[in-house]
Amino acid sequence: MQAGLNIPATTIAIDGPAASGKSTLADLLARRLGYLYFDTGVMYRAVTWAALTRNVPLEDEAAVTRLAAELHIEVLPPTVEDGRRYTVLADGVDVTWAIRSPEVDASVSRVAAYPGVRSAMVPQQRRIAARGSVIMVGRDIGTVVLPDADVKLYLDATVEERARRRWLEMRAQGREADYEPVLASMRQRDEMDSHRDVSPLCAAHDAIILDTTGKSVEEVLAEAERLIRHALAAKGKPCPSG
Ligand code: C5P
Repeated sequence: MQAGLNIPATTIAIDGPAASGKSTLADLLARRLGYLYFDTGVMYRAVTWAALTRNVPLEDEAAVTRLAAELHIEVLPPTVEDGRRYTVLADGVDVTWAIRSPEVDASVSRVAAYPGVRSAMVPQQRRIAARGSVIMVGRDIGTVVLPDADVKLYLDATVEERARRRWLEMRAQGREADYEPVLASMRQRDEMDSHRDVSPLCAAHDAIILDTTGKSVEEVLAEAERLIRHALAAKGKPCPSG
C-alpha cells in the first residue's frame, strides 16, 4: 500500500528480449509519469561480473549461488555525468559500465538460469516494487516477480533489428564491434533466456505485446503511454500527471 492512501502500490512491468527497447522506453516513461525506473537485468549482470572478476567458476552453481546471496547490489541515481541512467554498485564498487562488457553479455544468461541466483534477486526486486510508482524491467517481471502488476507490456522486435540496435549503440560509444558476432551473441542469449527451466522469458497471458520493429522511440513511447493510462483508468487507479 502507498503511505497514507488506501490504494495498492502501482506497478508497471515491462518484459522482452535483449535490445527490444525496454530500457529506453522505461526510462522515458518513468520521467513522464514521475515513476521510478528499475532495470532488474543489472542485478544478474552484477552477479556475473563479480563471478568473473573473483574467479568463481561459472559452472559451479553452488558457488555462484552463494555469491549472489552475499553480494550487496545497490542501484542509485547517476553519480557521474557520463551518459549513465543510474549507478550500479556491487559491494561498493561502481560497476555501471563494467557490467555491459561482452564477457558479461556472454555469461549472464548462464548465471541467471540458476534457481538459487533468482531466489536471491527476486525478493529484493519485490521490496523495491512495494514502494509503488515503479516501472520494473526484465524477463520475468509480469510472469513471476510481479504477477499482479497493474500494467504488463511485452516488447519484441526481430533479432536482426535488435542486434543492429545493439551494434549501433556500441559503435556510438566508441567500442569496436562487428555486426555478426553481436547477432550471434544475441541469438544465444535469446535461446538460453527463453528455454531455461526457471522463469523463462515469455509474455504473461495478460501482457500487451508491442512489436517495436521499424518503429521510432517516439512512436513506441506514445503507444505505451496511451496503453498505460488506459489500463490505469480502467482499474480506477490515479493517472499520473504529465
Ligand atoms: O536486460 P539485460 O539484457 O540487461 O539482462 C541481462 C540478462 O539478465 C538477460 O539476458 C537474462 O539472462 C537476465 N535477466 C533475467 N531476468 C530478468 C532480467 C534479466 O533472467 N528479470
